[in-house]
Amino acid sequence: MRKLLIAGNWKMNLVLAEAKSLTGDILSQMERFGDALDFLIIPPYTLLHPLAPAVWGTKLALGAQDLHWEPSGAFTSGISTAMLKDAGCSFVLVGHSERRDHFKDTDAALAMKLRAAIANRVTPIYCIGEHLEDREAGRTEAVLTHQFNTVLKGLAADQIQNCLLAYEPVWAIGTGKTATPEMAQETQCFIRNLLVSEFGEDTAASTRILYGGSVKPENAKELMGQPDIDGALIGGASLTADSFIGIAAAANS
Ligand code: PEP
Repeated sequence: MRKLLIAGNWKMNLVLAEAKSLTGDILSQMERFGDALDFLIIPPYTLLHPLAPAVWGTKLALGAQDLHWEPSGAFTSGISTAMLKDAGCSFVLVGHSERRDHFKDTDAALAMKLRAAIANRVTPIYCIGEHLEDREAGRTEAVLTHQFNTVLKGLAADQIQNCLLAYEPVWAIGTGKTATPEMAQETQCFIRNLLVSEFGEDTAASTRILYGGSVKPENAKELMGQPDIDGALIGGASLTADSFIGIAAAANS
């Protein structure tokens, strides 16, 4: 019922020639999966417009790493949902831990970003996850509940149906440390139960929750074999077609 989504967050990597080459390689290697999986790449802003013609009409979706909630105006460096759609984006990350930690995105800003994305029909992938000190202090569930409530609480069921979630333990991002499949499943089951309490069983059952944090071909099968893991948000390993497609192949095996 919930098709796996294999999503590559390129972060602040690649220039145009590299990006075109990677996209071409992904597109040709993706063909063998048919409709079994959904695929998404999330390049830096400057690569969106030039990559759009390559992915147009294919099963590879284009997403952005951030957005501004206002439609236009005096917001130097801001990028609106209209601009994202104009550049061919159908997805956008909201609340990635690097935005929260390095750029100090607040809960209030994230709530506005998420609502702007939904209202303008760009599908948000809302990222939540605990730091190592939170996990070690037994605060994981409290942190996730806070991140959930401050941004998602109060949405209507038809709004949340247009969102994905990504559980990304911050201690596992770019560190090579992965949550064990059991740990990730237990946490994602907790997140799904938050969805049940707030939005009901049907909505919770149809909302995809990705896992992110040092996903690679070697651990993808076990992670995505878990009942509450509906795909992967991949950083480092999305920068070569071999590892990105290797993750897809492992997930689909
Ligand atoms: C990410 O950027 O969301 C991520 C999970 O990165 P990595 O796969 O490199 O840990």
